[in-house]
Amino acid sequence: MALKAQSVCIIGTGLIGGSLALALRDAKFCARITGAGRTEATLKKAVDLGIIDSYETDLAKAVSGADIVVVAVPLGAMKSVFEQIAPALSVTTVVTDAGSAKQTVIHDAEAALGEKAGRFVAAHPIAGTERSGVQAAFKELYDNKRVIITPTESTESSAVDLVIAMWQAAGAEVETMSAEHHDQVLAGTSHLPHLLAFGLVDCLNNLEDVDEIFRFAAGGFRDFTRIASSDPVMWRDICLSNREAVMAMMKRYFQEMDKMYEALQESDGEKLKDIFVRAKKARDEFCG
Ligand code: NAP
Repeated sequence: MALKAQSVCIIGTGLIGGSLALALRDAKFCARITGAGRTEATLKKAVDLGIIDSYETDLAKAVSGADIVVVAVPLGAMKSVFEQIAPALSVTTVVTDAGSAKQTVIHDAEAALGEKAGRFVAAHPIAGTERSGVQAAFKELYDNKRVIITPTESTESSAVDLVIAMWQAAGAEVETMSAEHHDQVLAGTSHLPHLLAFGLVDCLNNLEDVDEIFRFAAGGFRDFTRIASSDPVMWRDICLSNREAVMAMMKRYFQEMDKMYEALQESDGEKLKDIFVRAKKARDEFCG
């Protein structure tokens, strides 16, 4: 029989935490979901929208008696949340997170949770939209999406099993890798693209004839820059948390841009076309 829980506490009922709550309720994974966070209005709204059963603004009270605690706040707030909940966690409670970078979260969790860190399972759902907040949550967000978990040598296997069961109940497929590998991979496929989208929009916005430029922006511009509508605080925290891997990926990208710059400077159409052909082939294969 699939593992289930009695009580789940979700700290941060925004897009990621709220969607998880909706999916778990739909799957009848647990009897009760408590929401927790810093803003009472957000939590009240989550109750009104049928996302959580009840809420608590005192994080220590919120986690007492929970089988699973999911921390789904921006990366910059994780440390403080772990410190607030640590003394109130029972020895059987499993703690997990949804943060988009993993090495810093593991560092923060281990420092705050001490002896209880063996029951912390770092996780990252590879699912999301450019929208944020409780009103953006929807129960299908994780359907057939991947969740990466990055347990350490000291993570208890029973905690890993429960976190896997929770994400599977939410509709996701779970994969395991090291936190270091996760951060390198996501730097390329998620963090760099967000920097590029924010950077391009900011660059154009600083031009004198910006209104004229945006007036003629078509579908390609919208597709490329959709993620520049994402939450700035969240993305600041992600880039800072994974700065080494993101900077390494940016350097690789600058080299690629230099190649294209040179090709243009030399009016070298073949060189430019070779890059485009390779990129198109790779993308077509990747997108099936
Ligand atoms: P979100 O929609 O903005 O929700 C964040 C939640 O955390 C809200 O409930 C917010 O409540 C609360 N919160 C914000 N600052 C806080 C603080 N200092 N202390 C306590 N609570 C705080 O963001 P999200 O998209 O769900 O992202 C949550 C986490 O998931 C982040 O770590 C992010 O890296 C990760 N993630 C995001 C995506 C994505 O595409 N969005 C995908 C995968 C993983 P109030 O602001 O109302 O207080």
